Amino acid sequence: MTDPNAIRANLEAVHARIALAARACGRAPADITLIAVSKTHPPDAVQAALAAGQTVFGENRVQEAAEKFPRAGARLHIIGGLQTNKAKEAVRIADAIDSLDRVALADAIERAADTLGRCPALLVQVNIGDEAQKSGVATAEAEGFIRAMRARFGARLEGLMCIPPEGADPAPYFTRLREMADAHGLTVRSMGMSGDFETAIRHGATHVRVGTAIFGARPASP
Ligand SMILES: *Cc1c(COP(=O)(O)O)cnc(C)c1O
Repeated sequence: MTDPNAIRANLEAVHARIALAARACGRAPADITLIAVSKTHPPDAVQAALAAGQTVFGENRVQEAAEKFPRAGARLHIIGGLQTNKAKEAVRIADAIDSLDRVALADAIERAADTLGRCPALLVQVNIGDEAQKSGVATAEAEGFIRAMRARFGARLEGLMCIPPEGADPAPYFTRLREMADAHGLTVRSMGMSGDFETAIRHGATHVRVGTAIFGARPASP
């Protein structure tokens, strides 16, 4: 059940934590964008967050996002592994796709962008822990892939995204992503979730993707 007051209070608390973490390492809180990850939560939860002033949202399924975000006024990031056959719809509805990780997907995004006359901002997702089950380009291939995406999409390629391995100290992974982004002159580093966003900010996150700390626990995935 959605409690708008709880969502508002959670958003305030997360913003306060972001500000504290940023200032503690000499960064400006305004340099960090909070992406509110609303996946699996109902439209009225999104509504409550919008009413509380949140404007940037993350969803990991294109279909669900299309149903929940018909609206102007919200900026939508697609943050989940993206199937090639969903690329066109993603290009249609998203302001950013944070999970570009293979050439076939780049092909589909490029075709859709040509057809629709719009191209979202793009982030390359790096499988920073080289985990078999995770999406993202392997670290060994990241260099070449980022270069190729830069050549293809130009300034629409804005940065990198990663999800460190669960249970490990995320700091070295965040540092690695930051170094990769710097090496390519990319300014956006999307890293850090409810459990580790302060660490991510310390290590250079420009975007943190926070779900649970704002909207509460998600129902267990099927
Ligand atoms: C679900 C999800 C998040 C948010 O995770 P929380 O732990 O609920 O904050 C962030 N990033 C990605 C890619 C996700 O899929």
